[in-house]
Amino acid sequence: MSEDLITQALSTATDTKAIVQGRGIVDRTGAVFAEQFPGKRGIVVADGNTWDLAGEAVTASLKAAGVELEEPYVFPGTPTLYAGYSNVELIRDHMKDLDVVACSIGSGTLNDIVKLASGELGRPYMNVCTAASMDGYAAFGASISVDGFKITRNCPAPAALVADLDVMATAPRRLTATGFGDLIEKVPAGADWIISDILGTEAIDEYVWGLVQGPLRQSLSRPGDLAQSDPDAIGELAEGLIMSGLAMQAHQSSRPASGAGHQFSHTWEMEGHGLDWEPALSHGFKVGLGTVAVCALYEVVLSKDLGAIDIDAAVAAWPSRDEMEARVRALHTEERAKPLVEPAVEQTLAKYIDADQLRERLELVVSSWPAIAEKCRAQLISAAEARELLKEVGAVYHPEQIDIDMDRFHQTYYRAQTIRSRYTILDLLLEAGLLKECVEELFAPGGYWTQESSR
Ligand SMILES: [Zn+2]
Repeated sequence: MSEDLITQALSTATDTKAIVQGRGIVDRTGAVFAEQFPGKRGIVVADGNTWDLAGEAVTASLKAAGVELEEPYVFPGTPTLYAGYSNVELIRDHMKDLDVVACSIGSGTLNDIVKLASGELGRPYMNVCTAASMDGYAAFGASISVDGFKITRNCPAPAALVADLDVMATAPRRLTATGFGDLIEKVPAGADWIISDILGTEAIDEYVWGLVQGPLRQSLSRPGDLAQSDPDAIGELAEGLIMSGLAMQAHQSSRPASGAGHQFSHTWEMEGHGLDWEPALSHGFKVGLGTVAVCALYEVVLSKDLGAIDIDAAVAAWPSRDEMEARVRALHTEERAKPLVEPAVEQTLAKYIDADQLRERLELVVSSWPAIAEKCRAQLISAAEARELLKEVGAVYHPEQIDIDMDRFHQTYYRAQTIRSRYTILDLLLEAGLLKECVEELFAPGGYWTQESSR
């Protein structure tokens, strides 16, 4: 990993002060803890699997650095630890009366559980990473299930991270594949931000952009080596993921690392899809599929000339605020969608513009279309390319792989637009009156999702 990039990113991160990455460096955990939390007692938090992986090495390192330790808290290794709020309460209540700072050993789920528990106690914590499985290590906020539905709770990012690539290389292959799926979405998410920037809905911060997009292509360049658990390739993937987390800290928003492809995943997450599987359906598998979905959509859009849209017709067809609300409700009628209807209405109305504002925006779309198209083409990869990369790394690239039938997948193109106020390609198309036309092309004969090569 490029030390300079990390050092630079740490200087603008609000919570994370130290990141140590490399091969065979787990024994530096104690020194990092002692430096970040001088004089504090520690508690190692792990699950049965991550304890077996690094529990003794981490404990030995902490002791060697003079850190006084409580007994470790180890969640069961099987069934796979669930990112449920009850687990947050367990560790929070255990730590509450102890004057300790947690050193967790884990990836997505365990890191999120300890992050939220520590956040609720108002204490910092650090994490020893066990897989390059998501960008949440250095991000604020925790993705936790409450009553069977995933929500994101606010809480600070870890004060320090230790990423020993030899430890991470022993992770199950599906975890590396899911990290790849989370990272590849930063490609179309970048195009979404480009559009948003040009249309004046959310300006690009060049520095933050560079943190994510700078190392991105390199991080995604070795799917075959990642499938073989090559530690150096895992280091490059981990760098991209950690930098994305630091970018979100610097920007105080997930915009740098999340676009329409993530909204596909969030829709299924909010519908509770795969949360009760063993192991639960991972974030990055859904996000990788969302990436293919959105790259395919971009291909259709970029084959058209949005400089020639009929502004009068689009303005005349634009729904009133009440009609927009009714439209959102009509898109989420299934039982599983119940918990997300009200949030979707709120998020959609937060980005609602009236007919006059729409006319202004569409005039800007027409005048800036050559620039939008050129920049997006330079940023994007094709759906076929995204699919090949995901396939090679062992991730998900077709809805049937994760039990989403074609009809539900098709509808997700419309539903995903409603669940976040973030402006993406889906919003541009809805406003231009082209969302239906473009999405339907993907599912018509000859469209991406009807071709054999999409399988
Ligand atoms: Zn993500």
